[in-house]
Amino acid sequence: MEKFLLKNIENPDSASLEEYQRVGGYKSLNKALQLEPSDIIAQVKAAGLRGRGGAGFPTGMKWDFASRDVKFPKYLICNADEGEPGTFKDRPILEKNPHLLIEGMAISAHALKSDRGYIYLRGEYPYARVVLEKAIEEAYAKGYLGDNIAGKGSGFHLSVHQGAGAYICGEETALIESIEGWRGQPRIKPPFPVNVGAWGMPTVVNNVETLANIPLIVAIGAEKYSAIGNPECPGPKLFSVSCCVETPGVYELPMGITLKEIIYDHAGGVRGGRKLKAVIPGGISAPVLPPDGVDCPMDFVNLPKRGSMLGSGAVMVFDDTVCMVKVCWRAMSFFEHESCGKCTPCREGTGWMRNILKRIEGGFGRDNDIELLQDISLSIIGKTFCPLGDGAAGVVLGFIKNFSDEFRYHITNKKCMVSKDL
Ligand code: SF4
Repeated sequence: MEKFLLKNIENPDSASLEEYQRVGGYKSLNKALQLEPSDIIAQVKAAGLRGRGGAGFPTGMKWDFASRDVKFPKYLICNADEGEPGTFKDRPILEKNPHLLIEGMAISAHALKSDRGYIYLRGEYPYARVVLEKAIEEAYAKGYLGDNIAGKGSGFHLSVHQGAGAYICGEETALIESIEGWRGQPRIKPPFPVNVGAWGMPTVVNNVETLANIPLIVAIGAEKYSAIGNPECPGPKLFSVSCCVETPGVYELPMGITLKEIIYDHAGGVRGGRKLKAVIPGGISAPVLPPDGVDCPMDFVNLPKRGSMLGSGAVMVFDDTVCMVKVCWRAMSFFEHESCGKCTPCREGTGWMRNILKRIEGGFGRDNDIELLQDISLSIIGKTFCPLGDGAAGVVLGFIKNFSDEFRYHITNKKCMVSKDL
């Protein structure tokens, strides 16, 4: 597939405005400025673009909700708080193709009639901040940002807001709280940010990759765009592939490609030709799949049918030397650390499950620990403010469902089936 999101990024000057324009950059913005905002929203809806941050919500529908709200000003926020373990798909855009994101945001702002935008950047991406701020400066100087973009009357101002390293600020309402200067904790929904967002005003929060798809939709039109990949959720998709593969990295591929194709045709297969044991298909919050799950198409429609989810498209591959109990414990340690503490089931449950997993992994598991983990997980799901709690619980249930023999072996034999450490 021809690359669009990662086009030209091998070029050392790919982040410069000059180079971006040389390969056709900002033509879509000029085209979009000739269109009515409602026509752009209709195009994005017809294209079938779904948010690339994890939830997969239809982007055009989100924009429609915000544009129907009569309150002004409206805010456009790019969620660049890429903190999910295994996820690094937005990083090449932020560091090597920043003008694609800026162009996507300028078009989106025109569609939403928003004149103020922010890029909420992950705290651990200091280099991306340097690149983005330089690119924003270049875009202002060229008239692609500012009061009167390309002389067409539309105004849009953009700046970078860097987070301080909290994973929860990737949740849109916690992100908004953080931008407003408060502690980054999720708000109860409804009301949704499209109506009551930053400073109480309509706010659209879109992921980096989502916004980076907008210039392509404007350039080729909804019909051609919707022909890329799975027609039910089309378009190019960035997959960050890591752990036990020969060539980890970020791959731009059509939505709906199978996990097997990603791992074996693009990422060089399992490292050292070892046996595949498990795959987490969408970042650490996505339930793990056993090896027979690799035939599943990677999209928002098919992965849920297999008991997992596309999430951020972060593919984590594990070979037969990896202990699944240890992976589950490490995942839970992350969730416990990143739980914001606002609601009790998540705050207490993640720590409790981490302790149980730690003792199983260490050879001190108790006979009913698996049932206890399941019970705690089911007591969390559906009872928390934001998806972090559900995600943590779903991860445990996924590991137990697919690798209960390994958990049971740890408890019964006080040692690991695959690692000699114990
Ligand atoms: Fe905070 Fe966890 Fe509750 Fe989300 S689910 S609001 S992270 S305590």
